[in-house]
Amino acid sequence: MTETGTCEKCASEISVEADRCPECGYEPASHGILGSIGVGLATMFSILLGGLILIIWVVAIGTDFGFTDALMLTAFFGFILLFPLGIIYAAMNKEMKTPTGKKKNLKEELLGEE
Ligand SMILES: [Zn+2]
Repeated sequence: MTETGTCEKCASEISVEADRCPECGYEPASHGILGSIGVGLATMFSILLGGLILIIWVVAIGTDFGFTDALMLTAFFGFILLFPLGIIYAAMNKEMKTPTGKKKNLKEELLGEE
């Protein structure tokens, strides 16, 4: 038995499990071009910052670069890293949304409904 809900865009009665409305094609999970660019940039930025922190520690261990300075730089770049990670997290959260406005439960998705 499938639970039904109302599409947020066209008000059709559709399955809450549907990722895309079969009536109007509304698909809240799709990011659009701007969203994809944003997530792409955020991912690149995260990798860059992660690499930078790694380099800081390689340099800190390999040279006589101050340990305290390395810690402070890690805290600084780690703080900046929270922003792109937040964007990625928000995008992933959005991905779970269906046209009926019901958020898909990731656990439910993986384990199957009872
Ligand atoms: Zn619809």
